[in-house]
Amino acid sequence: MASQLNLTGGCLCGAVRFRLESAPFDAGWCHCRSCQLNSGSPAMAFASVTDGDWVAEHGADRIRTVASSSFGHRGFCGACGTPLYMKVDHQPETVDFSIATLDDPDAIAPGFHIFWGSRVAWFDPGDDWPRYERFRPDTRGLEGTEPPA
Ligand SMILES: [Zn+2]
Ligand SMILES: [Zn+2]
Repeated sequence: MASQLNLTGGCLCGAVRFRLESAPFDAGWCHCRSCQLNSGSPAMAFASVTDGDWVAEHGADRIRTVASSSFGHRGFCGACGTPLYMKVDHQPETVDFSIATLDDPDAIAPGFHIFWGSRVAWFDPGDDWPRYERFRPDTRGLEGTEPPA
């Protein structure tokens, strides 16, 4: 595996290019309904970096955001729609980015599934990673397993 530092990525149309200034962690699949609608796919694979370490090198002015829940928003390319990152209020110290937007998506692999309870039935990831019905019990920033309503 290549070094996880200095990873770069971007959107479908090339308007937005970004780099990571630290190594990603907490990589996992999310099967929640918002991720399904945001991606048009059964699930999204995210990893986290320290807030500020996902850096737009090009096209920062093209990024649009949408409130995707009562506790978070998502950033996407305003030109082509590629989902780039997600920010949640209970984890202000990190940002979650779409692993598939890396130039080398093999650089980091998911290791768990969250919101398995809303999984699309025909999507079988075929792995043995932990499956959580909703958030992980040890989710950073949450006292319980869910964000405040
Ligand atoms: Zn784009
Ligand atoms: Zn989700």
